[in-house]
Amino acid sequence: MSYFCIAFTRNYPCFKLKNNLMEQEFASHLLENAVNEFSKLPGVGRKTALRLVLYLLRQNEDASTSFGEAIIKLRKEIRYCSVCHNISEEEVCPICSNTLRDHSVVCVVENVKDVMSIENTHQHRGLYHVLGGLISPMDGIGPQDIEIDSLIERIKSGEIKEVILALSATMEGDTTNFYIFRRLAPFTDIKITMLARGMSVGNDIEYTDELTLGRSIINRTLFSDSFAKEK
Ligand SMILES: [Zn+2]
Repeated sequence: MSYFCIAFTRNYPCFKLKNNLMEQEFASHLLENAVNEFSKLPGVGRKTALRLVLYLLRQNEDASTSFGEAIIKLRKEIRYCSVCHNISEEEVCPICSNTLRDHSVVCVVENVKDVMSIENTHQHRGLYHVLGGLISPMDGIGPQDIEIDSLIERIKSGEIKEVILALSATMEGDTTNFYIFRRLAPFTDIKITMLARGMSVGNDIEYTDELTLGRSIINRTLFSDSFAKEK
């Protein structure tokens, strides 16, 4: 190794390490491309990406082909409901088009994962409105970047009687809650509710933080009411 190389790698050890890894790991450009694509997925590093790609290579061709086709089909055929912005295969999602659901109650959530979480509780029989994010000035996300205007338009239709704010109990969630609350102020006949905040089921009081415990006291409910709801 020349004096120049020794000096260079001493000053920039990452450069040498990275180059060695690249040379050792990828004998094929096709393999490298696949690893690059997999490592773009959240929570997948390059080592995991390589392991997944090698796993797919070991499978028979049909398995890899159906895997690839599933992703292409997902991207081409999945779209967002024109009413609530939930993921859908049709113009209007099965929840919005279900006449057995209560169309007068709309639950406002941040994303499609939250719709799934609330649906899994089997406690909400109304509709949803997926904002696609939360207001976050620090990240440059303003009210115009999420689906608030379309929520107001839905409310103008007159069918909605209650809006449930089901957003995260974070600064961004609270900012968005407050903004929506302000925007809904002219609609005086609309009931605006939010998810109860307090102790989680199974929590010990001793280990509950003061803010949560304080909210639990403020938002206390009649014991007979909670018993009736859980039945
Ligand atoms: Zn929908």
